[in-house]
Amino acid sequence: MSRIDLHLHTTHSDGSLPPAEVLQLAHNARVTALAITDHDILSGIPEAIATGAELGIEIIPGVEISSCVGGSELHILGYFIDWQDSELIRRLAALRESRHARNPQIIERLRALGLDVTYKEVRDLAGTDSVGRPHIARLLMDKKYVTSAKDAFDRYLAEGRPAYVARELPQPADAIAWIRAAGGVAVLAHPTWAKVSGEALNALLRTLKADGLGGIEAHYSTHTKRQTTEYLDLAKRLNMLVTGGSDFHGITKPDIEVGTGRGGLKVPARLLEPLKQAASQA
Ligand SMILES: [Zn+2]
Ligand SMILES: [Zn+2]
Repeated sequence: MSRIDLHLHTTHSDGSLPPAEVLQLAHNARVTALAITDHDILSGIPEAIATGAELGIEIIPGVEISSCVGGSELHILGYFIDWQDSELIRRLAALRESRHARNPQIIERLRALGLDVTYKEVRDLAGTDSVGRPHIARLLMDKKYVTSAKDAFDRYLAEGRPAYVARELPQPADAIAWIRAAGGVAVLAHPTWAKVSGEALNALLRTLKADGLGGIEAHYSTHTKRQTTEYLDLAKRLNMLVTGGSDFHGITKPDIEVGTGRGGLKVPARLLEPLKQAASQA
């Protein structure tokens, strides 16, 4: 059975490797098709397509858009989007700008706590337009204020910690609509983030389906067998597509490998065809 991976990040957002290197790892892991799903940005896709053609790996143009509903952050994956769609590019740029406004506030809080960090240092370290908290975490590691990215989040950056600044996020319905308008299929990433299960999750998914959500990421690096089974069952009940991916980030999530996650991930290649069909009908 060949393996695919439909959820990966590169240096174009908060991953630590450029698309070409991520693809080389995918090639080594015998991944036959792969989706680059950087946060709120599409700029890594052309390099992925070029390298994919060299290595014989099919590239699905993707994106991951952060959204928020009822206090939960929901991430919406978009697949088979037209990555040159000017409207989607414009909307994603606006999302990144709102994040840019937040990062200097986080830095101000860290400085108020006595840490010697500047926003310029974070931007230089990130070297991308898509700056995020993982970059701030890396700066704190470089400066030996924390021992790991997790330590940075636990002590300063996570919700409820002293340097946390809430972010204005779109509603999931908006993210779904933007993806569909660009010809893509919208999928709920890592459903555990919804912080509900059973009938409450079923109700949430029905609402999102009415908004145009097409699928659920049932296979995911950190899902337990029980969670995967629950999400597969829900997808079946609601007649929704199933996807899966590692959420590879490189060194910021060192235990996650391309294609295999924590070792047990196996996303069946047969999931790709229904996704492709749904996109062609969009
Ligand atoms: Zn996510
Ligand atoms: Zn992700």
